[in-house]
Amino acid sequence: MLAMTERAYFDWNATAPLREEARLASVAALGLTGNASSVHAEGRAARRLIEDARGRVAALLGAEARNVTFTSGATEANMMALTPALEVGGRKEQRDQLFVAAIEHPSVRCGGRFAPDQVEELSVTADGVVDLVALQAALKKSSRPLVSVMLANNETGAVQPIRAISEIVHAASGILHVDAVQGPGRIDCNIVTLGADLMSISSHKLGGPQGAGALVCRADIHIGEPLVKGGAQERGLRAGTENVAAIAGFGAAAAIAGKTDTARIAALRDRFEASLTKSAPQAVIFSRSAPRLPNTTLFTVPGLKAETAVIAFDLNGIAVSSGSACSSGKVQASHVLSAMGVEPGLARGAVRISLGWSTTEADIEMLLTAWNKVVSSLLNKHANAA
Ligand code: PMP
Repeated sequence: MLAMTERAYFDWNATAPLREEARLASVAALGLTGNASSVHAEGRAARRLIEDARGRVAALLGAEARNVTFTSGATEANMMALTPALEVGGRKEQRDQLFVAAIEHPSVRCGGRFAPDQVEELSVTADGVVDLVALQAALKKSSRPLVSVMLANNETGAVQPIRAISEIVHAASGILHVDAVQGPGRIDCNIVTLGADLMSISSHKLGGPQGAGALVCRADIHIGEPLVKGGAQERGLRAGTENVAAIAGFGAAAAIAGKTDTARIAALRDRFEASLTKSAPQAVIFSRSAPRLPNTTLFTVPGLKAETAVIAFDLNGIAVSSGSACSSGKVQASHVLSAMGVEPGLARGAVRISLGWSTTEADIEMLLTAWNKVVSSLLNKHANAA
């Protein structure tokens, strides 16, 4: 059996390792007794941890603490954000249509609380970037649109032109929600400079524990109708006793996310890509000509099957993921690659590597060694079977 030291983790876009600071904050919170809604000292101590974390998450996104609502993760934050019932400048109003980019996470593509016939997909270019001309044309169909475009795609790493999208959306009297899950610690996530109105983030993608996230609102735009109803927690926007330990860890991770050495990570990723294309000139790197996250490569070589490649990598001590979504045992081509017009046979071979703050040169060496083994054995096997 392989010892853990012989493994290298390249699946940071799925989940990041827990930061030590986050672990300590969560463990300390688990040692406390007290419901944050109670007025006694124990309750107030739990409340303090939540409010400290709120301030840290707000600072990460350049928002005001009072506009941060904690949730169970980004899936819930997305579901919460995508509602026709919004409050704009203190007035309740209804959005009549939801536009979502075709490359969004399933929690956005499902349309949140809009009726299915109120949801329309926005097309992307072959590079996996929202088509601004198509966006402008689509918005003509609605007088009060809500638009949801992610900051960076989790599969390809393609960074979306949020500032430009914000200008188009606002010119059409629209409101812009941004799923910024893959951004923190990698690219700018400031809600003001991006021009977003609502933003979702997730604790476990930035080094906090799993099971916490937040919906962040611009000062004058709020959710008009809670998703989870009941008690008055989170100013009545999200009922239920707060997950104090997860929130405290989330806050600790948010406080240090900006210190990530992205230039070092980008250099390691670029080194992998240079070696990949040198050893396999036929390799395809998806979204290569778009601005991309510094830590992500989605690639394939013709003839590769991602599901077998992921298993072969795993047996060689490397954790990667495939660009294909597997539901009920049936492997389907990724909706992201199909929206980019990638031929299904090629899309089925897409393998994603994603790096983070603790990735080392030695990890990249191990990845390249494994890749050379995996690619020759898998391609030979397919050739022999053909
Ligand atoms: N949006 C994006 C872009 C994601 O990558 C993910 C996680 N895969 C989510 C939303 C969902 O986040 P969570 O796991 O916190 O529900």
